[in-house]
Amino acid sequence: MSWARQTNIKTPAELKIMREAGHINASVLAAVKERLQPGVTTADLNAAAEEVLKSYGCTSPFKGYGHPPYPASVTISINDELVHGIPHPKRKLKEGDIVSVDSGTIYEGFVADSALTAGVGEISPQAKKLLEVTEGALHEGISKMRKGNRTGDVSAAIQNYVESRGFYVTKEYTGHGVGRKMHEGPQVPNYGHAGSGILLRPGMTIALEPMVLVGTPETRVLPDQWTVVSADGSLTAHFEHSVAVTEGEPLILTVL
Ligand code: MG
Ligand code: MG
Repeated sequence: MSWARQTNIKTPAELKIMREAGHINASVLAAVKERLQPGVTTADLNAAAEEVLKSYGCTSPFKGYGHPPYPASVTISINDELVHGIPHPKRKLKEGDIVSVDSGTIYEGFVADSALTAGVGEISPQAKKLLEVTEGALHEGISKMRKGNRTGDVSAAIQNYVESRGFYVTKEYTGHGVGRKMHEGPQVPNYGHAGSGILLRPGMTIALEPMVLVGTPETRVLPDQWTVVSADGSLTAHFEHSVAVTEGEPLILTVL
């Protein structure tokens, strides 16, 4: 069975650990968001994230991940950069930028994964709308994370929410199960058909992550082999939560 269709059911005790990991990850994102000011470098933001992780005795699953090994603890992606931007001491934030921060925390053997996008100072009306739509799409997807639904219900809800508001979802990067590993099954794309895919069961934990582009669904990867940008240079945004399916309401794990 391919990873994309695997599911791992977590016990209540494991969910408790994941909730704690999620709390720490939310603290990392809050610390970074607080520092979004003109002149701050993306390396400064990574350092702020590492300080929080260290204070909890935690590490990031991002550091050393993949090929070439990802060199930082968070990814910082500005404006047309959709995901996986690498922090750099010479990259300074400017007034009007929108900054996507994706963070992961390993705590007692479990991973939390979440992301947000926020503005630096005053941002354009289009950027504001993009942030609202992307965060709205995440919560639309979360509302479908119910026992008895299927992953396609979640995917279709995200896609419809975004496209009916005039923006695009990427088809190249997807949401995913999360647990002992950062990327587990099932795969949950930001597009799909209601009623299709894997049946959601209590104890499943999934990182939902709408990645939204203003002008095109197409992306390309920069020569650093990590940074993903919109193919047309248009603005992009990314919001993510790790969420558990329960017997009742969906449980967002990555909150303060
Ligand atoms: Mg993430
Ligand atoms: Mg993720």
